[in-house]
Parts: sequence; structure tokens; C-alpha cells
Amino acid sequence: MRLYNTLTRTEETFTPGPDNTVRMYTCGLTVYARGHIGNFRTFVCVDVLRRTLRHLMHYRLHHVMNFTDVDDRTIIGAQKAGMDLRAYTDQYIAAFREDAKALGLEPVEENPRATDPENIAAMGAMIDALEQRGHTYRSDGSIYFKIASMPDYGKLAHLDHAGIKPGARVDSDNYAKDDARDFVLWKGTKPGEPTWQVAGDTPGRPGWHLECSAMALRLLGESPIDIHTGGIDLIFPHHENEIAQSECATGKPFSRFWFHVEHLIVDDEKMSKSLGNTFTIPDIITSGHRPSAVRYLLLSSHYRKQLNFTWESLQQAEEALRRLTDCLARVDAVSASGGHADIQKRVAEAQQAFSDAMQHDLNTAAALGAMFELVRAINSAIDAGQLGTEDVPVIRSAFAGFDLVLGILSLRHAEDEQPPVPVEEIERLIEERHAARRRRDFAAADRVRDDLAARGVLLEDSAAGTRWKRK
Ligand code: AMP
Ligand code: ZN
Repeated sequence: MRLYNTLTRTEETFTPGPDNTVRMYTCGLTVYARGHIGNFRTFVCVDVLRRTLRHLMHYRLHHVMNFTDVDDRTIIGAQKAGMDLRAYTDQYIAAFREDAKALGLEPVEENPRATDPENIAAMGAMIDALEQRGHTYRSDGSIYFKIASMPDYGKLAHLDHAGIKPGARVDSDNYAKDDARDFVLWKGTKPGEPTWQVAGDTPGRPGWHLECSAMALRLLGESPIDIHTGGIDLIFPHHENEIAQSECATGKPFSRFWFHVEHLIVDDEKMSKSLGNTFTIPDIITSGHRPSAVRYLLLSSHYRKQLNFTWESLQQAEEALRRLTDCLARVDAVSASGGHADIQKRVAEAQQAFSDAMQHDLNTAAALGAMFELVRAINSAIDAGQLGTEDVPVIRSAFAGFDLVLGILSLRHAEDEQPPVPVEEIERLIEERHAARRRRDFAAADRVRDDLAARGVLLEDSAAGTRWKRK
């Protein structure tokens, strides 16, 4: 399989490590807010990379995706909410798990939290290794990484060394390329901030970059790992600094491949919380759309191209998805006997084109194209009476194969099994409607019924009581 590697800026052939296993790390969500669909663009593309490696290439996966539950943003958020950091971040981890399920992300092998004691200990051990090898210095209670101590610092982001100011320091977790400076590994204790003791009992808390280096190497083992992934904004400073820390601590390359997903944008700007242009999965559901359509939309363009989010494009994704499910419903209804070499040949060609597209740097747009070409061929064959029951399992198994990688049809199926309104809420509203009738407020009772109908749930009254069903 060919994959673009940010480190070399070229497409390279990817092969797994020993025993056919791919050791992959994904920088997960910073849990200071609910993730938005921009964040999930990255996570859905990484999920499709994971699924391609597993289900198409038949490699084994050891995939780690962390939760960044201590950094500048989580600490400020918890302080503002007057909550303990762990309790504050718990809420957004729970929301992430809900949204990840709604978007059909395969569970990964490990989801560490930066503040887990074993991870904090690994961060301390990494600082010790860096100190021993002369890559650090201390100032004002904090510990910094000295970038002048690493001759190839900047190789991922292609930094111009002339612009780097030796000896100048930066304390914040995020900063721009022009500000490439000695970055903080361990931030000295400040009043009101959570504190741990590492590296000769220095009280403080980890810098963001250190967290990922330590978790990746603790959980994935020997360097180099096979693939490191994240959104394109993480190339600098986060991933550059992860490379610096990991390579200087171990003396070995950190990751063979670097996989970066381009941004989801809105009106030419990155979707991001600071710009106030974000939508979350609950926002999407409230607006009457389905997460499966979001997943489809997020896969409709190549992961290395920007993708512009509009409500029309979400509607188009919904329509495309329906063309697909309508076609498969037609296939299921075929009753004529026999098989047809023509359509089975088209199926085999589509499978080949799909596999080629995915193996060519995860070209999901071309893979979807191959799938829809087959949809057209199937519809024409059904119209012409050229599809029989012997063709049906061949077609079904091809789409099942596509879906192991794309994860769209199974997601739609799971959504269809779920009532559009949570069952507890339906039951509460039925009770409310009975109460309204008992007090002879028929207008209120009808309102409850009509509101539920608008949300896709029909109420049916009978002598035995009220039952509900999907519209
Ligand atoms: P954060 O929670 O800010 O650490 O971001 C989690 C992941 O989402 C990172 O891999 C980011 O690069 C990615 N990300 C953030 N905004 C976007 C966006 N608009 N489009 C695609 N990926 C994004
Ligand atoms: Zn990270």
C-alpha cells in the first residue's frame, strides 16, 4: 500500500512491522470541550486508515489514541467551571465516546489518559533520559528542551534554522512556526494548578508535547513506531516536538510514517472552537441530519485536501447514501432465478478499483466512485431483468467488503435500528399526553403527538393503551 509520508513529503510503500502488526499512534482529543466535526474529520480518516490496514491489507493493529486531559486549555476550563480537572475532563471523554460510536469509529486497542499515573511516570522517565543526554535545562522551576542540542530539529515542519532564536523559551502548549524556541517539558507548579512530582521530585505538570511522546513509547514499545497520525495543524509545534523528545531520549527514529489529515473548513476558515464556527454531532442531529451522512461527507474527499462544510453538501451526502441503500434494497427484492456473468464481472472490477483506490494513499473519493459505478450497473441490470438470485450473494458480499473499510452502511443500519427519539423520552411523552387528556386539555395532548410525529415517531391508541412505532 502507498501512503504519503509528511516526513519525506512523498508517497512511499507502507509495510507493517514484525509479525504483520502496525503500531500506530493518534493524537486524540483535548478534552476541554465536546469535539466538533472538524476534529472528527481527522478521527474518521484515521479510522478508515485503520480499517484499510486491518480489513483490506489484513495487518494486525496496535493502535493507541490518547485523551489529552491536562494542558493549558483543560486547566483553564476546569478552573472556570470550578471543577476538579479529572471530573471536568470526564464529561468530554464521555461525550467523545458517544460521538465516536455515532460516527462508527472502530474502538482502538488503547485509549490512555495523560494523567493516568503510569503515563505521568513515563513522562518523568523521559525527562530523566533527556537530562542525562544533555538536552534540557531548568529555569524558574520549569524544565525546557534545548532545541540547539538537536541538529535536525525542524525536519518534519521543514523549519528554517536561521529563524530559530537560540536560548529563547516558550511556555505555552501551542505557538507558531516563527516562534520556534526551547519548549517546556515540565511546567513548574503554579497556584491553583494540578501538580505531580517527577524528575528529581520537581513539582509541576507536563507540557502537552511530552505527554504524547511518553504515551506512544510506553504503550507501543521500541522506536520507531510505524505510523503517527493527527490533523495537519499538529505538524508544528506538536509533532516536531514529539520527534525531538522521543528521538533525543532514545537515540532512535520515532515514527516511520507521519500521516496528517487536512482541515475541515467553513467559509475558508478552519473549523475551530476559537473561531466559533463549529458544529458537534448533537448539533447535526438537532438539525435533522444523521451521523452516517456526516461520515459519508467526511470521506467524500481525499484526506489531504481541505473539505468545505456546508449544509447542502451534508444533504447531498444523505442523498448519495440513500441511492446506495435503495439499490441494495432492490437487490434484496430480486426474485428471478439464475446468475449473470456480466454483472458478476462488474462486481469484480469494482472490487479491484476500490482496493486500488484505497491502497493508493487512501483515496476514499475514488473508492466511493468505484462503488457508485457498480450501483449504476446494478440498477441498469435490474431494470433490464439481468439480475438473478445467484448474483445477489456476490453483490452483497462485495458491499460488505467495501463497508468493512468505509463503515457507512453498517452505521446506517445501526441508526435504523435505533428509535429516532430515546425510548425513555417517548414513554415520558406518552405519559404526559395521557395526563393532558385526563384533564381534558386535548390541544396539549395533540401537540405531544404531533411533535413526536415530526421527530419520526407515530403514536397508536388502542383499547390496550398507546403504542409507538417509527414513521
Ligand atoms: P485537539 O482537541 O485540538 O487536540 O484536536 C484533536 C484533533 O482534531 C487533532 O488531530 C487536530 O489536528 C484535529 N482538528 C482540529 N480541527 C480540525 C479541523 N477543522 N479539521 C480537521 N481536523 C481538525
Ligand atoms: Zn499528540
